[in-house]
Amino acid sequence: MKKLQIDFDFFFELLAIMSYLARFFGGLFVVSGKPKLILCEGAKSIERSLGTSTTREYDVVVVGGGIVGAASARELKLRHPKLKMAILEKENELAKHQTGHNSGVIHAGIYYKPGSLKAKLCVEGMQLMYKYCDEKKIPYKKVGKLIVATDEVEVKRLEELHQRAIENKVPDIKLIKGVEEIKKIEPHCVGLQALWSPHTGIIDYSIVTQQYGIDFKEKGGEVYLNFEVNKFEKSQDPKYPVLIQSKDGQNVKSKYVLTCGGLQSDKLAELSGCPRSPRIVPFRGEYLLLNPEKAHMIRGNIYPVPDPRFPFLGVHFTPRMDGSVWLGPNAVLAFKREGYTWADINISELADSISYPGFIKLALKFMFAGAQEVIKSAIPSLQVKSLQKFVPEISAKDVERGPAGVRAQALDISGNLIEDFVFDMYKDGDDSIGSRVLHCRNAPSPGATSSLAIAKMMVEKIESEFEI
Ligand SMILES: Cc1cc2nc3c(=O)[nH]c(=O)nc-3n(C[C@H](O)[C@H](O)[C@H](O)COP(=O)(O)OP(=O)(O)OC[C@H]3O[C@@H](n4cnc5c(N)ncnc54)[C@H](O)[C@@H]3O)c2cc1C
Repeated sequence: MKKLQIDFDFFFELLAIMSYLARFFGGLFVVSGKPKLILCEGAKSIERSLGTSTTREYDVVVVGGGIVGAASARELKLRHPKLKMAILEKENELAKHQTGHNSGVIHAGIYYKPGSLKAKLCVEGMQLMYKYCDEKKIPYKKVGKLIVATDEVEVKRLEELHQRAIENKVPDIKLIKGVEEIKKIEPHCVGLQALWSPHTGIIDYSIVTQQYGIDFKEKGGEVYLNFEVNKFEKSQDPKYPVLIQSKDGQNVKSKYVLTCGGLQSDKLAELSGCPRSPRIVPFRGEYLLLNPEKAHMIRGNIYPVPDPRFPFLGVHFTPRMDGSVWLGPNAVLAFKREGYTWADINISELADSISYPGFIKLALKFMFAGAQEVIKSAIPSLQVKSLQKFVPEISAKDVERGPAGVRAQALDISGNLIEDFVFDMYKDGDDSIGSRVLHCRNAPSPGATSSLAIAKMMVEKIESEFEI
């Protein structure tokens, strides 16, 4: 009898320990057809061995654990706590691609066409981001930003940009005239005129995304890592009609799906019947690192006046949360969707990019500028020349090659770069799978700044499209 009592105590203790560990690691047991699923708790992850073959069932599944997917999943779960939800992410952690490889700037909403979603969501997103970070004690620095004009053509463009910023309701935006005024803000910077945005900041968006994931899990959401979705199929279960399959044969069933696949967003859209266009063409942005001994020369963000002919903001000086200073990014075609160096090549993805009529038209239009970017990538000292216009004391010996990010640039078939956010759904009759899968096909910069505002919009879209 005594022996039996001891065994029961041991058994209950074991259960208590398992339950504690499960909660500690966010380990909601997941059962799947394949032996391994990985669940995440913020930056940590654990691996569980799973024996049985029951498929998990959800009301809404979000594919893609970048900042947009994580923010949207969190927002939907907060507004509809009873929904059974999961995030499926193909990498072994959240924020591994664009979100974890960007400039880390909290943009204030200066550049974007008044009335566009980008303009509206950036201004709103910046305010929400600061509020969220204060609540969650996520570090950021409001270092501000100077957009500096160095010749008369740029001065005119800067004045237009000022008007645009006012229309977009960018808070406290101010035109600064003369080098002396510029130097009061950035002592080592020169220029004729500048726009000063005191509310622009810097942050680590990976930390923000991990926190969105934690909020989501605290409300009962589940996060699967190493789950690369490669098929949407009609399931046999009328209650959960969408069967989501991973590359290695794991299955999850859901009533509805939202995809936020960043660099893979067109491929995911195609899986549910949507056309491949707008196609994602990956453009790598390479940064240079400023010698730490010179980092004190840069207080805040220093940007050029953007050239309206080109889609990107131009190489800029960005202080980082760790005290380093990044210079860049440039823009060169990446030979792989997630190709962070010239050596990363995927022949089929490269062929896919360069055979796309939209890319060919774009390449012909920007042939000269594109070639210049490639040369500057090969010879970083040439890139330094464009930076010396703003901070003349910097020389080629003060920089070294730094990290890179890859932009998911959505391109239409005519070669136009899609600037705004794009949603897509393939509706072929009410009971088609496509009508249950909503895709976010384009979330370009300032997508990270705007993530909380995008999430609100995404949830409104889900509420209007799906019966949740
Ligand atoms: C160089 C660069 C600089 C930038 N600078 C800034 C900036 O300073 N400020 C700013 O606000 N924005 C900036 N941006 C833009 C910002 O990073 C993006 O708008 C934002 O990160 C987009 O988030 P996302 O979640 O859509 O994409 P991602 O972060 O790329 O996430 C997509 C996720 O989907 C996953 N996924 C893809 N396919 C599958 C699949 N089949 N199954 C499962 N998971 C899948 C991927 O692994 C990835 O984790 C910059 C971007 C770049 C590239």
